[in-house]
Amino acid sequence: MNPAIEKPEVKTLGILGNGQLGQMLATSIAEQTNLTVNLYDLRAYDETSLQQFLNANDRISYETENIPAHIVIQMESVESKVYPSLTALKTFQNRLTEKNALRAAGIATAEFHAVNCLADIHDAVTKLGLPIIMKTTTEGYDGKGQFVLRQPSDATAAWAEIGNRELIAEAFVPFIREISVIGCRSETGEINVWPMTENIHHEGILRYSLYPAHGFSKEKQAIAERYIEQIANSLDYVGTITLELFETEDNLIANEVAPRVHNSGHWSIEGAKTSQFRNHMLAVTGQEITATDSLYPAVAMINVISDETPTEAANGMSDTHVHSYGKEARPARKLGHVTITADNSDDRDKKITQLEGLIPEGVWSK
Ligand code: AMP
Repeated sequence: MNPAIEKPEVKTLGILGNGQLGQMLATSIAEQTNLTVNLYDLRAYDETSLQQFLNANDRISYETENIPAHIVIQMESVESKVYPSLTALKTFQNRLTEKNALRAAGIATAEFHAVNCLADIHDAVTKLGLPIIMKTTTEGYDGKGQFVLRQPSDATAAWAEIGNRELIAEAFVPFIREISVIGCRSETGEINVWPMTENIHHEGILRYSLYPAHGFSKEKQAIAERYIEQIANSLDYVGTITLELFETEDNLIANEVAPRVHNSGHWSIEGAKTSQFRNHMLAVTGQEITATDSLYPAVAMINVISDETPTEAANGMSDTHVHSYGKEARPARKLGHVTITADNSDDRDKKITQLEGLIPEGVWSK
């Protein structure tokens, strides 16, 4: 390579956010002795300490897209060293710009309508029909900031409950199930995609993910891979990217994008040739990414929510890996996850049944 255009080696990477995703990113590359990873606790933010952090690291990444606007503005001072780019972060922070970007990249989404006042909700009903899912355009996660509008007379209640700010109205997608696909793109434009998982939520929180999804189709995996390539290429994206999808009878409809590693990809730590965390770290530090194939015919990831006691059932179980995030127990809080690897879906499902205590009643069904 011509030394004149050779990029300097990245020696320090700063990650905004020091939660479990930041920790798993850091440990995924722990053996790489020439890279120092620093985590910044966004909850302890102050302008001076953040600026020092932004200036001190060769590159900056982030574990969450829920970064407040004043911090994003401050990140602009070091824009060229932020990976994934600030353009990508801003695009996926807002459900309207996100949907427009998906559409522009040729990816199917629900029909939608921007809502800035009560009258816009009535226009949305005319355009989209009923029911409609109303969502705040920013800062919604795990189903928060949402309202299902079933009849036109619900509009006032919807505006009172989540309105008085920018909303998006989405046509209801009659999906069979929810799927996610995670990929990683390097600076040189190489893209590797992990096998997609089926994701089961309860009360807005992911409870478990399965690979392969029941009745998994190669055609749909191919659509999912094409979608990741289209959205990542369209933004010259660098790093791991997650696309949450609705599976319908004959298609996949994009719901939202996370410009980061995702809970539904935690299985890749033990289950794939390279984890979502490691490839993100390789990509954002300007290195080549490596293979994402699954190492096992069947894998499950079960979240540990509110209480870690049920993980005791995993003691002595083969091919079962318990991860504890070392967090204080609190209702609805993610405290860890358990990954199961298996030779086939039946064995995997038997093991999930043994760990049923981790899953709310009625939510695990084979
Ligand atoms: P979100 O915060 O966008 O992930 O939405 C939370 C949950 O609401 C999703 O996981 C779906 O179960 C449901 N949902 C969101 N948008 C739609 C939609 N347009 N049609 C049907 N269900 C939806």
